[in-house]
Amino acid sequence: MSIIELSQRQKEIIEMVKINQPITSEQIAENLNLTRATLRSDLALLTMIGILDARPKVGYFYSGNSIHSFIGSYIQKIKVDDVKSLPIIVSEETSVYDAIVTLFLEDVGTLFVQNQEKFLSGVASRKDFLKIVVGNQDIHKMPVGMIMTRMPNITFVYGEDSIYDAAIKIMNHEIDSLPVVEQVVDKNKEEQYKIIGKISKTNITKVFVEIATK
Ligand code: ADP
Repeated sequence: MSIIELSQRQKEIIEMVKINQPITSEQIAENLNLTRATLRSDLALLTMIGILDARPKVGYFYSGNSIHSFIGSYIQKIKVDDVKSLPIIVSEETSVYDAIVTLFLEDVGTLFVQNQEKFLSGVASRKDFLKIVVGNQDIHKMPVGMIMTRMPNITFVYGEDSIYDAAIKIMNHEIDSLPVVEQVVDKNKEEQYKIIGKISKTNITKVFVEIATK
């Protein structure tokens, strides 16, 4: 992944089109003292990323879109499937003690929980575990199912959702991660969800760094 930074000349072209639109490539070339051939790749790029509109026989218009809207639509095209990571899953019957050990062994902050049918049933995070430990309960006897946040109160995403939507959910719900799921119908014709991945703040941060790394 790499993203485009506009050159000084491209910025000049945009300013010129803003003021003189519609303007032909001949006029732009003349104003900038360049040949049309030299300008061709700049105009192609600015049109491709949607900052300029080209109308045949009329000339170039300024679309009103900025480089930011280009970056925005670029980010919206990145799918959860492209960046998701492996989920760490435990069953509802797992003891809180074993679940805490799993947090350390797998180096994660959140566990996804599935029921006996292997469908998403909950999420257990650091704070959920701390609450129980502070409450001095027997964490060897207590199952994760008793302390987790439970369906239908789980926020999740699908693989084909954009990472932008995932980031909005993480922000709005003030959580660290989301299960990535596939919807299935069980034997009672009820909608259920299979856990197929995980999107966390770390995944989103990685995308951010990749975009910014030229
Ligand atoms: P931490 O406990 O490390 O602060 P979070 O901020 O993600 O982690 O979790 C805060 C609370 O939100 C916990 O009670 C957790 O069970 C719940 N939670 C975490 N992820 C989700 C999710 N995807 N959907 C619903 N609730 C969640």
